[in-house]
Amino acid sequence: MFAKIIKYIKELFIGVSSKKNPEVLINNNDDNLNYSTSEKNNNTQTQPAYKIIISAGHATFAKGAYNPKFKISEYDITSNLIVHMMCDYNKFNYQEFTYLDLSSQYENLYYTSYSSYLNAKYKCNNSYKPDLILEFHLNAAENIKAKGSELVRSYDKYTEKYCKFMAGAFDEYNSRLGENENILKCRRVVTPKDLGRDLFILDEAKYPTVIIELGFISHDLTAKKFIDDEFIKLLAVELNTSTSIYFRNNPKAEEIT
Ligand SMILES: [Zn+2]
Repeated sequence: MFAKIIKYIKELFIGVSSKKNPEVLINNNDDNLNYSTSEKNNNTQTQPAYKIIISAGHATFAKGAYNPKFKISEYDITSNLIVHMMCDYNKFNYQEFTYLDLSSQYENLYYTSYSSYLNAKYKCNNSYKPDLILEFHLNAAENIKAKGSELVRSYDKYTEKYCKFMAGAFDEYNSRLGENENILKCRRVVTPKDLGRDLFILDEAKYPTVIIELGFISHDLTAKKFIDDEFIKLLAVELNTSTSIYFRNNPKAEEIT
């Protein structure tokens, strides 16, 4: 069975990609999503800077799930994505295990990236007092037909609202990819409780935190798509733009504990 060929390294720190038999793409239509591309043209307001931490989720020594056919790991994809998210900015000097503050070309966003090393991560998360923490991962499943993105959020109204917005953004972006490549279509927005498990980064989060599962690395079309550097570049711009729009239209988040 091809499914047996798909092996992935179970995550050492955060086991969000180890669902055994997730359902194939479920379209959850019950949210009132307020995302629309027309909002992107509304760029006239001056807003305070929002501090956002972006994380590749894994590290070079623990790269997360792996697709052997395309020889690509979660970390290969997520680290490339956050590098492009930061390249989309004025300054760029990314190094693993280094804390960086980067001025943004988006008037309302201010990003920090940091080491994926767990202790450093929580220290940084709490000391930086971010408005939002975004951590990127990919799912993996024995069911190789499973695909679609997924958002796992901390227990606060702020991330609930952000996730609904981003689910809309993903679906909108996905529709532009075309029917045969609908890898980013949002399957669901959940909390750790919905998953029936503890997720350390969310349980420990003192600030609004969202884990973005970009897709299933075990799905070959998805893995193939995420190898494409041009696709990652476009996705990075999409994420920056959508997050910028979100913050333009929503108040600053509060500490949640
Ligand atoms: Zn992961």
